[in-house]
Amino acid sequence: MPKLIDKFNREITYLRLSVTEHCNYRCFYCRDDEQTPNCKREDILSYEDIEKIVQIFAELGITKVRLTGGEPLLRKGIVKIARLISRIDGINDVPLSTNAHLLEKFAEKLQQNGINRANISIDSLIPERFEKITRGGDLTKVIKGIDAAIQAGMHPIKMNVVVMRDVNDDEIESMVDFAIAKNIDVRFIETMPIGAVGIEALSQHVSEQQIFEKINQHLGNKLTPITPNQTDGPAHNFKIKGTNSTVGIISAVSNHFCQTCNRVRLTTKGDLILCLGQEDAISLKDAVRSDLTDDEIKQMIINAINKKPEKHEFDTIDNISNRQMVEIGG
Ligand code: SAM
Repeated sequence: MPKLIDKFNREITYLRLSVTEHCNYRCFYCRDDEQTPNCKREDILSYEDIEKIVQIFAELGITKVRLTGGEPLLRKGIVKIARLISRIDGINDVPLSTNAHLLEKFAEKLQQNGINRANISIDSLIPERFEKITRGGDLTKVIKGIDAAIQAGMHPIKMNVVVMRDVNDDEIESMVDFAIAKNIDVRFIETMPIGAVGIEALSQHVSEQQIFEKINQHLGNKLTPITPNQTDGPAHNFKIKGTNSTVGIISAVSNHFCQTCNRVRLTTKGDLILCLGQEDAISLKDAVRSDLTDDEIKQMIINAINKKPEKHEFDTIDNISNRQMVEIGG
């Protein structure tokens, strides 16, 4: 079986698949406050397109497909999409990224249809603050969603917290305690300069070192580093001794983690994005709807992977100001 290995010798095994650009939350660092325009049905990948593209990726060595968005639970047929993908030969890991607003309703069905684990975005445990950050979010629903995912047997469940100075950096310790109490994991994410709002939020950036020091002070000598494995992604993870929880920090800005990047992203409209911090993309939607054979599409993907940039260029932020995170899927 051919593998997707780029010219920097990175093997690509992970596809992040955005299934909708719509989101019921409007986190101020992720997107503007505008209503996402409805696009024509034919402009977004259909179930058949998704199944075919993932099948082709699986034949090229992709083993993990994350469902993301926008908010993936807003996509009609999300359970069907989960089922179609998780049944594809070679795909053995289908996690979900969600804000959990609708997870109480969907957790069990998704788990039964192949979603083995979930990352849940939650930037505050204070209801009014949570509502402000998300511009209208409901913390009670999110916590019910987390409980439903635990109940459904998704494992691991990771809380994703974007840390921002004077917004929620005083909650790092309580987030850790919450994760320990629920037997789940927590990961703190540095703000990334994606889109105009992300660039603006960079002024509230808190570095990995500062986040680590707060956690370390809180937990004393309870943190043991976890040796990363190939599919772990960019987080620096620690086991919290005496608990079932881990804590991680994702530091896209203070540290380039690009040398171990194993992922590509597919947007709702079928654009294959090779790097979060670069503008290049190729359309796979047109390819799967054309007369191209699967082998020809595979070759297109191999050629694209060959062009995967060595690293993101968050430092020259002009070139990534046009895309919002909500369109890319995180
Ligand atoms: N709606 C889902 C969710 O809430 O997880 C999936 C999409 S959301 C775009 C994926 C992740 O991207 C979330 O954890 C969100 O906090 C993160 N994110 C969005 N904008 C970001 C930024 N500027 N910097 C760092 N993380 C960001």
